[in-house]
Amino acid sequence: MALTHGFSEPDVPPPEPQNGRETGRVTPVMEQYIEIKAANPDCLLFYRMGDFYELFFEDAEVASRALGIVLTKRGKHHGQDIPMCGVPIHRADEYLHRLIALGHRVAVCEQLEDPAEARKRGGKSVVRRDVVRLVTPGTITEDSLLDAKRNNYLLAIARARLSSVGEELHFALAWIDISTGEFRICETTHAALAAEIARLEPGEILISDALYSDPELAPFWRSLPAVTPLTRDVFDSATAERRLTSYFAVATSEAFGTLTRLELTAAAAAVTYVERTQIGARPPLSPPARERAGSSMAIDQATRANLELTRTLSGERRGSLLDCIDRTVTAAGSRLLAQRLAAPLTDPAAIARRLDAVAAFTEDVALRADTRARLQAAPDLARALSRIVLGRGGPRDLAAVRDGLAAARGLADALSSAREWPSEIAEALAACRAPDAALARELTEALADELPLLKRDGGFVREDYDSSLDGTRALRDESRRVIAALQARYADETGIRGLKIRHNNVLGYFVEVTAQHGEKLMTPPLNAAFIHRQTLAGQVRFTTTELGELEAKIASAADRALGLELEIFERLCAAVVAASDQIKACAQALAELDVAASLAQLAIERDYARPQVADSLAFAIEGGRHPVVEHALSSDGTPFVPNDCALSPPEGEPSGKIWLITGPNMAGKSTFLRQNALIAILAQMGSFVPAKRAHIGVVDRLFSRVGAADDLARGRSTFMVEMVETAAILNQAGERALVILDEIGRGTATFDGLSIAWATVEHLHDANTCRALFATHFHELTALSVRLARLHNATVRVKEWNGEVVFLHEVVAGAADRSYGIQVAKLAGLPSSVIERAKLVLAKLEQEDRAEPKGFEDLPLFAAPYKPSAELRQQSDDLLTATIAALNPDDMSPREAMEALYRLKQTLAKGREPE
Ligand code: ADP
Ligand code: MG
Repeated sequence: MALTHGFSEPDVPPPEPQNGRETGRVTPVMEQYIEIKAANPDCLLFYRMGDFYELFFEDAEVASRALGIVLTKRGKHHGQDIPMCGVPIHRADEYLHRLIALGHRVAVCEQLEDPAEARKRGGKSVVRRDVVRLVTPGTITEDSLLDAKRNNYLLAIARARLSSVGEELHFALAWIDISTGEFRICETTHAALAAEIARLEPGEILISDALYSDPELAPFWRSLPAVTPLTRDVFDSATAERRLTSYFAVATSEAFGTLTRLELTAAAAAVTYVERTQIGARPPLSPPARERAGSSMAIDQATRANLELTRTLSGERRGSLLDCIDRTVTAAGSRLLAQRLAAPLTDPAAIARRLDAVAAFTEDVALRADTRARLQAAPDLARALSRIVLGRGGPRDLAAVRDGLAAARGLADALSSAREWPSEIAEALAACRAPDAALARELTEALADELPLLKRDGGFVREDYDSSLDGTRALRDESRRVIAALQARYADETGIRGLKIRHNNVLGYFVEVTAQHGEKLMTPPLNAAFIHRQTLAGQVRFTTTELGELEAKIASAADRALGLELEIFERLCAAVVAASDQIKACAQALAELDVAASLAQLAIERDYARPQVADSLAFAIEGGRHPVVEHALSSDGTPFVPNDCALSPPEGEPSGKIWLITGPNMAGKSTFLRQNALIAILAQMGSFVPAKRAHIGVVDRLFSRVGAADDLARGRSTFMVEMVETAAILNQAGERALVILDEIGRGTATFDGLSIAWATVEHLHDANTCRALFATHFHELTALSVRLARLHNATVRVKEWNGEVVFLHEVVAGAADRSYGIQVAKLAGLPSSVIERAKLVLAKLEQEDRAEPKGFEDLPLFAAPYKPSAELRQQSDDLLTATIAALNPDDMSPREAMEALYRLKQTLAKGREPE
């Protein structure tokens, strides 16, 4: 017997008056729609009608194009057809997701009363509706719209007023993840702004209209996804403190420590936007925590992309450093790991605290395994909590709280007495124990084993939990048995064996027989009891007085049962909300335990060592490896060759070294450069590192650039990009920075490139005095080591064997003698005829080069290694050195600088001419 219940709204949209067709007058529904739409002009309006969200007018056109759904019409407005398209509510999440991803904002407008209520007010009354929520990229909470492994930040940026320019910190940033309650603030400089945004990767950025149209910054804002400009009142500093304290219901913002006026402004803008989009609901935010400027390693967007920290250059998580090191077993742990990777610390004590926690878990296999198994059972507590507090939770969210709290307590019990724990873990265990055990017990007793997604589906309260609910349910179920019995009796009495009693949302319960039996029920004597309701193609439907009475009984029992369940639901939610601070802390603690245990797991699996991080300029890596390349090679059994790197200041010198690395293509230069940057990042985020030993003086800024990287998307020439980025490094890197430059100067003609690379090395050495790794195919640069005390030449060894080149991937002191370009081309599979021809051309070029080098200026050096006699080469270098030494960049106009470059180029060309 197929009995279905539907206690939801009817399937069909309520019949609403719609008579403006001829007169051109506006129907009441349209009037309501237009009014609501006018209040939300920047959003697509999802207008609830029955089981659909409908979109009208331009919204319908936009949405139907974006979603590929049918565009239809509904009535007329001022004599014109009204375009319309609809989204069924059970698929709304999916469509929302796509619209948000495309950068739209959506206002969700619900029916605020039962259509029956509206009808009671008279035939022309329209169902009350209003917007209950604005869905924007930075304010979503649904699991189906969020990436479980990533935070989704809403970032508000406030700028200091012009009067206070002159101070260093011009900007305040406040960012919120409303799905987890995290809330942070910091101040930053103009120069570091882009790097901070790159670190946070916000889902949505809020700025004032004024800042959005600032002539200097406008192009930057337009290059970012999802920037929402807001009216000035949101960024009004005079009302900021009041708005912030009212959100948290505290008397003064001193409760959050001392915040600057600018920080207060950004924080208030963020919470104001949250309130506006949530239409008054207040997600459970942590009080804003202040991050000290400089407390994390500054890494700009180009460096992040280039080092493939959280995604590869092609945009995938797979193959990134994050993917390579992620052994977490919970979504919250995965998010915390990503956060830590994005913002390595600069305080050695804080780093040591994290490393202590990882070390503790490396020491005991069984304890680590047990911890990870328990964590695996813990659901996403933070996001479930957030939905419950916003009134968007379902029974499964309550179950997540139940299971999360149970896992936390289980962990605390199992671990607390197991050993002496370092502070980070001890504190996390205390937080796991903090929530009142009574809450978890209550949830366990109340919730059934199988839970529906939506509370309105009912059936989520366990039997024996509430006696009045049990009684009502018995009544409802009893009635259902009566229906079953009734069906059997009717079949018997009518002699129609296929007679069924069914249910749908429109008719309620009805008797259904196939068309051939319909006639029988419509003729005496049976038509006295069976009242005809509906004739379909194959079936005829009837009702009876008896069935109608039963239905009323069932519906009221079922309604009452659901009502009782919903009351219980609200009570449980209230208990969860009351404990939300402790639950949030508990969720954070679980994430911290997961990260510590997972990094320990990684360290053991991959043989990573604990780094030593100090407040110094040291940089000494022994046996370092590239975590991602090593892993990729291991899958086909190729060993990775470990390499040392020593950039610590030499005896008696105040600053660190620069390594200039030469060697043929494919030797492993880029890999070596990146592995050292990655080791610094891993160490400072509090992870063990792929090396035998690592001693790192805190890196405050990390720069990594690759020559001639394409950036066609932003419409700049590759060489321009290369130079803009190099300029940023030369202007910004201080002595605590680590700079990685890979083949800078490759994007232009040889001598241009060489001159620029040359001057760049000098500037890094003399002005920036930072630690740096510089890979280059300009062998000429190695001559600089004679004059620059802290410049060290290194090369990646290769062996030539039977005319083939064998890469040893071993970094040793010294300079490469040649480029092996043709050998590499051969390895790459160029046709042998081309290889042979190239060898001939090369031999000829080398010959002519000696005799008559003019005319070959633009030949890339690596293709035609220039081999002057040692003496000639020395002369050329000396001349060049002298020319450069005579330059005083600080006193030059741009024009003079250009001319100097041309002179350098000439000198270089001349130096190559044999006298
Ligand atoms: P280069 O920058 O000198 O052209 P890459 O760093 O791009 O060279 O390295 C080329 C390839 O050599 C890498 O893809 C990797 O497979 C391999 N390789 C690099 N370094 C090592 C190493 N230390 N051990 C083993 N293989 C390596
Ligand atoms: Mg390379």
